[in-house]
Amino acid sequence: MAGKIIAIADQRYRASAPIVPADLAPPSGSLHDRLQRPLRDLRISVTDRCNFRCSYCMPKEVFDKQYAFLPHSSLLSFEEIARLAAMFVAHGVKKIRLTGGEPLLRRDLERLVAMLAELRTVEGEPLDLTLTTNGSILARKAEALKRAGLGRVTVSLDALDDAIFRRMNDADFPVAEVLAGIDAAERSGLGPLKVNMVVKRGTNDREIVPMARHFRGRDVALRFIEFMDVGATNGWRMDDVLPSSDVIARLAEVFPLERMPVSTVGETAERWRYAERGVAGEIGTISSVSHAFCGDCNRARLSTEGKLFLCLFASRGHDLRALVRGGASDAEIAAAIRPIWEQRADRYSELRGRAEAGDGERRVEMHYIGG
Ligand code: SAM
Repeated sequence: MAGKIIAIADQRYRASAPIVPADLAPPSGSLHDRLQRPLRDLRISVTDRCNFRCSYCMPKEVFDKQYAFLPHSSLLSFEEIARLAAMFVAHGVKKIRLTGGEPLLRRDLERLVAMLAELRTVEGEPLDLTLTTNGSILARKAEALKRAGLGRVTVSLDALDDAIFRRMNDADFPVAEVLAGIDAAERSGLGPLKVNMVVKRGTNDREIVPMARHFRGRDVALRFIEFMDVGATNGWRMDDVLPSSDVIARLAEVFPLERMPVSTVGETAERWRYAERGVAGEIGTISSVSHAFCGDCNRARLSTEGKLFLCLFASRGHDLRALVRGGASDAEIAAAIRPIWEQRADRYSELRGRAEAGDGERRVEMHYIGG
């Protein structure tokens, strides 16, 4: 039987073959791109599969039963991921986030966590090792992840109202199980927790205040993310974006907030605390659309099959797996990463809407590149 042909199937793999320079000087622990941004943060997608079908990320109409997900043989093995991660750390990475797809769907993920937890930054410190999850199986996994050496987790949760939540995940998944996952993560010491809510105007914006009410008083950073135009399948429209300034205005009507200072360079969120004394909890906004933050972006992304992307909105990656599986040495791979980062000039969000923003090629999907 002829398979269904999906236009994006052959487009999401685009990548250039990295060039191994003649100079194999060992990593110096510090790399800067053309805009003087250091490499500090590596996001690794461990699977392109997810059990949710959020319309803003993996809409059911595209990611249906016929969709050709990557075969297991295409995925980087844990050993390959850990080997590449060590090279990125030698180049100055201090934080690794496991993502996907839904990372907890990757079998024995704890084994990878344990391997990554052994890495040390160039200063000899443990990495900031974290994971982003939809929380659906977190209640079962939290203890084992903590034992393996995971530092903390970020849980995506778009609504407290069960009907809205089920509609948004489009997998009829109940909110109670994600809330149980969040509680389990807190109990296991995977905090301070972050909870991410993607806000779509007219879809879940009435959940903003209830979400804040629910997490207020707990050591949780609740972050509101503007609906972004990642990939090419989520039907993004500017009209669906609720700017972060509106989110803060709605919250401030109920809970007075105080702006918090920036704590780390490259921080994606603007942060607020509750003005009422002694009340735990934090609010964050991630305003990739209304207030782009490319200027200090220090993130690289390693796709499920080992392609390095330098921007969430990139259309082309750099095929590190070809080097790994082609027998290149650690010195050669590390040397190949250097010019890739040094030539980086991506700043899509700042250029959004302008002609220079894209190269006309289709952008990769978020579940593949890693959110
Ligand atoms: N499955 C995991 C999860 O749900 O957290 C990890 C992968 S998911 C792609 C990572 C994050 O990206 C989630 O918080 C998700 O809500 C967010 N995301 C996906 N598509 C988005 C979009 N179009 N705009 C804003 N955030 C988006």
